[in-house]
Amino acid sequence: MTRFIFITGGVVSSLGKGLGSAALGALLQARGYSVRLCKLDPYLNVDPGTMSPFQHGEVYVTDDGAETDLDLGHYERFTGRPAVQSDNTTTGRIYTNVLARERRGDYLGATIQVIPHITDEIKDFIRDKDGTADFVLCEIGGTVGDIESLPFLEAIRQFGNEMGRERALFIHVTLLPYIPAAGEVKTKPTQHSVKELMSAGIRPRILLCRSDRAIDKDELRKIALFCNIDEDKVIPALDVPTIYEVPLTYHAEGLDDQVMDCFGITDSKKPDLQVWENIVHRIKEPEGKVKIAVVGKYTNLNDSYKSLNEALVHGGIANNVKVDINYIESTIFEEENPASRLEGINGILVPGGFGERGAEGKIQAARFARERKVPYFGICFGMQMAVIEAARSLAGYDRANSTEFGPCDNAVVGLMTEWTRGNEKEMRGSDGDMGGTMRLGAYPAALKKGSKVAEIYGSSDISERHRHRYEVNINFKDALEEKGLIFSGMSPDGKLPEIVEYNNHPWFIGVQFHPELKSKPFDPHPLFTSFIHAALEQSRLV
Ligand code: GLN
Repeated sequence: MTRFIFITGGVVSSLGKGLGSAALGALLQARGYSVRLCKLDPYLNVDPGTMSPFQHGEVYVTDDGAETDLDLGHYERFTGRPAVQSDNTTTGRIYTNVLARERRGDYLGATIQVIPHITDEIKDFIRDKDGTADFVLCEIGGTVGDIESLPFLEAIRQFGNEMGRERALFIHVTLLPYIPAAGEVKTKPTQHSVKELMSAGIRPRILLCRSDRAIDKDELRKIALFCNIDEDKVIPALDVPTIYEVPLTYHAEGLDDQVMDCFGITDSKKPDLQVWENIVHRIKEPEGKVKIAVVGKYTNLNDSYKSLNEALVHGGIANNVKVDINYIESTIFEEENPASRLEGINGILVPGGFGERGAEGKIQAARFARERKVPYFGICFGMQMAVIEAARSLAGYDRANSTEFGPCDNAVVGLMTEWTRGNEKEMRGSDGDMGGTMRLGAYPAALKKGSKVAEIYGSSDISERHRHRYEVNINFKDALEEKGLIFSGMSPDGKLPEIVEYNNHPWFIGVQFHPELKSKPFDPHPLFTSFIHAALEQSRLV
């Protein structure tokens, strides 16, 4: 029997609801249950694929090729369960489905309305998860009180009624702001937000109270009284130095015990949290430090490189070192010699990206790494820029570039117009839709025997997640390999370059995919483990 836990948020956005849901998922797993996490997003985009990462943070790509909310990355990192397309939906997708059905005439003359048609579609999304896990955790994006989230609240209210208290639980995440002038943590916004939730017909049974400082027992009692919630179910959720500590602190505050209590489960075993204790120990007590420069765009919004940051931390965990990340806006290197900022750095990473702005700066960073023999990790766009750099500096193609920035004489990187997915051929033109049309999701690659990447992976067949529209042009392979840039990973049909590496450099690897999406704190991605290891070696040289 599947039990459903709905997680809503109140007072402000960015409360860490996604992280909280993921941490609760990890706790339930540690008690021996199977879990599935999913998210309902109230915005009108069909998926976040067309949204600027600057506004919405990273787009998280699943194996089955969905472009989803970054919270799904937290879910996967905390539970190890690969996220799938059907774990995330949006208002846009819900309406698209309902309207398509209306056009087909499936509603037999009915007037289509938010209630019941939209709410039924939302309930179907949730119900679809029934039977697949012991617990389904369903996070509702946005903040209670937003106009957009009303149909979602109505749908989960109905769903909760249909399931009953034994199978459905509402948890509300809220903020207790500290007002310096009063020297107090304030509970009023929480009271109002619970009231708002109640007016939608939802009674939360557990409150997770985010706060940057310890909360007085009296305050917790007051919240319990005003919000009509058991005292032991008003749970403080204080800020912690590392996100991987969240499962431990939630457990210490009794969250998973209270969830068991709400469902009337009395025979549950205590969770085994050894894995999380080890991770936190390694993060808090590292034996060394490496400095990594991430040369990219949007670097003022950390969320746009969420998985990447985490994967670097995981690489640090694997090597027992702290990873100091220096974010560098790549446009700087278009005016300044990279040496001024990259000397003393132990590893350079150029992440995924889109568009011309800052591209030349990234090319300069790749050049610096190649010439100075500093470990270089190019991810997707970062690989493409490294190949352009090699074509210009080593192979004599002065005007090498990517057609992403317009027509060019030496199109070392060009638009991918066809490729195969399984047995099917995918075709794209330059004038097609932007949404959902990239080469997306898991694709296999064959690694060259004896290459560095084959050694790192310990295998010659891999599968990694992709999200790109352009590819390195295979026609330049021979010219580049002659200069030492080896095409060490290819699509199984031998048509698409997936990995390049120098054979005369300590660690210089470019990958066309996004390995960061599959890295976990308890299972760091081998490329990140190896990159941080190389950076550590480099730090011993300087
Ligand atoms: N803009 C490049 C492409 O579409 C790289 C994409 C990426 O880095 N994810 O191929």
